[in-house]
Amino acid sequence: MGLALLMRPTHCTACGTALMEAAIVYEIIVDEDLFQIDDVPGLVCRACGEQWIDEEVRSNIEQMVAENRGPEPNVN
Ligand SMILES: [Zn+2]
Repeated sequence: MGLALLMRPTHCTACGTALMEAAIVYEIIVDEDLFQIDDVPGLVCRACGEQWIDEEVRSNIEQMVAENRGPEPNVN
């Protein structure tokens, strides 16, 4: 496909500490509305709290949020 896969980092880009796999709370703001999604599989830095999630996971979440807040079903 010609698309390079983003490499999953093993160390925090901020402080260099090894990242740990963990379920994180991912926050995303769509049109000034804040959404919090629990139990997102991601990586966490134990030292500074930096969080990282897979690009694929992130796009899935954005799609889910977009669908949830999509057009009102009863508006016609
Ligand atoms: Zn860190």
